[in-house]
Amino acid sequence: MSDVQTGSCLCGACTLTAKPAPEAGTCHCSMCRKFSGGMFIGVQCGDTLRFDDGAPVKVYKSSDWGERLFCGACGSTIAWRSADGKMSAVSIMLFDDPGQFPVVSEIFHDEKPASYALAGETHKMTGAEVLAMFAPPEEGA
Ligand SMILES: [Zn+2]
Ligand SMILES: [Zn+2]
Repeated sequence: MSDVQTGSCLCGACTLTAKPAPEAGTCHCSMCRKFSGGMFIGVQCGDTLRFDDGAPVKVYKSSDWGERLFCGACGSTIAWRSADGKMSAVSIMLFDDPGQFPVVSEIFHDEKPASYALAGETHKMTGAEVLAMFAPPEEGA
């Protein structure tokens, strides 16, 4: 995690602070694509994401273990956050300099539409590989 950085949505009503990781990743899953209207490029901010008082942040629970944050005034994509609040992936586009975060990974690569691709070397994982990584180590059920 780096220093605290600030960011904001399109209309400026949602201003935030967070301590982003130095590198970013994209998720090609259908939920992230529909949520962001494109390729969701997020940077891990752990539990450091904070909003200024009065920010009209809306939360959409998109699965049993994750939720989507967006601006209730302008609709800007803000972040994916784990249900327990311990993990967050904030859109790099909200920060003043998105170019500071190299995009080093692509997850759910098997769900990427065939019509576009990132240039350069990235670490690619399929949806099954990602789910296996995060699956709780339960026996049976
Ligand atoms: Zn907004
Ligand atoms: Zn996704």
